[in-house]
Amino acid sequence: MATIERRTDIGPPHYDKFLHPIIKENYGKWKYHDTLRAGVLVHVGETGSIYTVRAASPRLISTNFIRLMTGLATKYADGYLRFTSRNNVEFLLGNKDNIDPLIKELSDNGVPVGGLNNSISNVVHTQGWVHCHSAATDASGLVKVVMDELYEYFVEMKLPHKLRIAVACCLNMCGAVHASDIAILGLHRTPPRIDHSTLPNLCEIPTTVASCPNNAIRPTSIEGKTTVKVDEDKCMYCGNCFTVCPAMPLADPLNDGVSIWVGGKISNARTEPMFTKLAIPFLPNNPPRWPEVTEAVKNIVEVYAKNAKPYERVGEWINRIGWPKFFDLTGIEFTKYHLDDFRYAGTTYRRSTQNRY
Ligand code: SF4
Ligand code: SF4
Repeated sequence: MATIERRTDIGPPHYDKFLHPIIKENYGKWKYHDTLRAGVLVHVGETGSIYTVRAASPRLISTNFIRLMTGLATKYADGYLRFTSRNNVEFLLGNKDNIDPLIKELSDNGVPVGGLNNSISNVVHTQGWVHCHSAATDASGLVKVVMDELYEYFVEMKLPHKLRIAVACCLNMCGAVHASDIAILGLHRTPPRIDHSTLPNLCEIPTTVASCPNNAIRPTSIEGKTTVKVDEDKCMYCGNCFTVCPAMPLADPLNDGVSIWVGGKISNARTEPMFTKLAIPFLPNNPPRWPEVTEAVKNIVEVYAKNAKPYERVGEWINRIGWPKFFDLTGIEFTKYHLDDFRYAGTTYRRSTQNRY
């Protein structure tokens, strides 16, 4: 009897289809891997070696950039490349002799190679003013100026350990800001402004009320029309309500800005994964170069580079020296905003893979 092949269009194709033949052959059979130089890795398997060249990407990328990358992959890497979770571009080469010409051509096109081991890898970020309605700051602009400032730490491996930076442009944190060594987080500081004249026509009241994670929105009536009110003490300026109700904008050019968080990591190595904690509660939005933000981030990176022990992540270093010493060394002012009111302690304490309850 003829077999019937079942096909569905659900989900992506199996990743197996896109693996380099050397990776396929050696899957689960690798002997070791090593770093040959900044941005270049070798994985040695039973039947061959694969060389990885890691390059930066500007994250929001143009068609021209994609054409450049795919062209270089075709020329030097048999067409094999991948984007990492932080949007580094990794070329997978079967031929060692192609490493130098590939790096030269990347460099000729202004694309740096690095981001491995004791360096800063590409900065992961969210949409920013380019694309999201909730943004309290830009994301790609901020990343560009921060990486311009920290370029040397991408192309050289001179930090105590790997350093991950993330940017999210509002509290919804689409980026990995809760679990990166240094996080730049856009924040609103004012509650939504309600346009009662358009809200009844634009928004569905039950959906708007349900959109608030802090139960700050209640239905009300103004001049006979059903609308909503916001309990400002409960509002945490997340912008969720604006997502479902365009009559509740909260972007504010004067009050929106940026906060800096430190000490997060996803890795289980040595110590358990950690959430970031507040370092700087507010810095102004000052495009196009955000000098206050770049200076603050560079300061933290340099103090960490100078004081941490080898293989200590930022959070591990801070835990060893203590937070008072961290504030002393970095010169960051300790304010009332650094005090935790433990409101969310029940759901945020001890949520690691090592210990759950
Ligand atoms: Fe939009 Fe906030 Fe996500 Fe940025 S972090 S893309 S503003 S929801
Ligand atoms: Fe609620 Fe967030 Fe809207 Fe404030 S901004 S009212 S917390 S949904």
